[in-house]
Amino acid sequence: MKKSLNNLIYIVILLTSLFLHNRSLSKANSEFSSHTHGISELTIAIENQWLEIEIISPAINIVGFEHKAITETELAAVKNSASLLSKHEHIFIFTGGNCVINNQTINMSSIAPNMPSGDSKHLHSHKNNNEYKTHHHQNTDHGEVIANYRYHCKKSSTLSAITVKVFDLFVGISQINTVWITENQQGSVILNPTNKVINLR
Ligand SMILES: [Zn+2]
Repeated sequence: MKKSLNNLIYIVILLTSLFLHNRSLSKANSEFSSHTHGISELTIAIENQWLEIEIISPAINIVGFEHKAITETELAAVKNSASLLSKHEHIFIFTGGNCVINNQTINMSSIAPNMPSGDSKHLHSHKNNNEYKTHHHQNTDHGEVIANYRYHCKKSSTLSAITVKVFDLFVGISQINTVWITENQQGSVILNPTNKVINLR
């Protein structure tokens, strides 16, 4: 009896955290992640048959700069990167799950021209020492790129691993801090070019 009560309490806590997690996926990420050049954040949530994946990255990792694109080279970099990020099948390889893309959004408003910066820009200090001096005293804005992918999985319970191939597309990303949550488990892993697999079970 006590055990089942404990289990129930555990499930309630888990569901509550899952609810809060889903409700504020982006918010949680931007609040708790530190903007460090070279490092990106990845959040994965699985609920029922839905899989949501979000990448938040300093724009410099993706396009090589964090200001509004002006030159032709910069504009081309933004366009090319948006195109690469939209090819989700080149970024994520699923083991099991039978997942099909349902919706995706690539937010590059912080670096794309003629678009409001929105909340993808924020004020902060960061850890890259050289950058710290130049940015911190003149301009503390750092642009971020946010990519969100939503999949419908016929057999989400069989989704056992996700391989993240984003390192092959963007050499500016050297590390991805990943957190994941399923209906009954959660975990975190630090990915890098030699360790790209998230084991979910
Ligand atoms: Zn930055």
